[in-house]
Amino acid sequence: MLNVAVIGSGTMGNGIAHVFAQHGFPVTLIDLNQTALDKAWTTIGKNLDRQVAKGGLSEDDKAATLGRLQRSTSLADGVRDADLVVEAATENVNVKLDLFRQLDELTKPGCILATNTSSISITRIAAVTGRPDKVIGMHFMNPVPVMKLVEVIRGYATSDAVTEQIMDLSRQLQKTPTEVNDYPGFVANRILMPMINEAIITLHEGVAGVEEIDTVMKLGMAHPMGPLQLADFIGLDVCLAILRVLHDGLGNPKYAPCPLLVNMVTAGRLGVKSGEGFYSWTHGTKELVLAERFRK
Ligand code: NAD
Repeated sequence: MLNVAVIGSGTMGNGIAHVFAQHGFPVTLIDLNQTALDKAWTTIGKNLDRQVAKGGLSEDDKAATLGRLQRSTSLADGVRDADLVVEAATENVNVKLDLFRQLDELTKPGCILATNTSSISITRIAAVTGRPDKVIGMHFMNPVPVMKLVEVIRGYATSDAVTEQIMDLSRQLQKTPTEVNDYPGFVANRILMPMINEAIITLHEGVAGVEEIDTVMKLGMAHPMGPLQLADFIGLDVCLAILRVLHDGLGNPKYAPCPLLVNMVTAGRLGVKSGEGFYSWTHGTKELVLAERFRK
């Protein structure tokens, strides 16, 4: 089995570590921050308990999964024996470029370097390493243990062999990999973010209210949640940052972020994480309550 190192133990990193360990891979989860690592440990434990309670996993499998997981705050120690690194650190281009420069020095020459970035160019990340053929995007969806898709993104120089290996590995995790090329937003966000932006423009222009827009898309298009609710879950700051990547990278005015989105982010209304976006989340995330501003 390949040795896997996962960098970043936040929302995505803990799920990625969980899924690899559950499918038999020895995993080291790495974070600069001990508190984040401890929190990830608790989350993985709870998520495994939920799988056991639902009958999807035996107690023995849970124990074996936990037995395959290690944690470290040292990048050098954590990646030394890795055959595959999956980077899921903070979405910041300088953080990623700095990490990949170090990874190129610290890992074995044959080690594949994957990133879970949502919006940063794989080709750009690969270019700071001496092994661009072994750098690839492995874009998991949130929540990782539940969502089936892995968007596998080939950088300009990613080799066929490495792409095939990551496609196979994703299947071993019981996921469905989809191969795409490295252009802004890849496929998932290139299609999702303009839809969310259009929903916000529709609201901004007074065509319909928040609930009406979300209801049309939920009941009319069979989406599990409406685009405005989804934007609140993703984080309006994250949506804005990805739209800017699309707008800058593709140069087409159709990707220009809606001024209402820009205002909401500037005012700190970021969705679930700040307690208010299109909806109010101070009562928790189970119940949908419109933000006061959008009530009629
Ligand atoms: P997060 O903020 O929850 O976690 C990031 C973690 O990275 C933090 O614990 C932080 O301490 C750690 N970190 C930062 N710099 C580090 C470094 N140099 N070395 C080690 N650890 C470091 O972020 P997240 O939401 O889990 O996102 C991680 C990545 O996954 C991003 O690239 C993001 O674009 C991508 N992604 C996120 C989602 C999502 O829904 N949250 C979905 C798909 C992809």
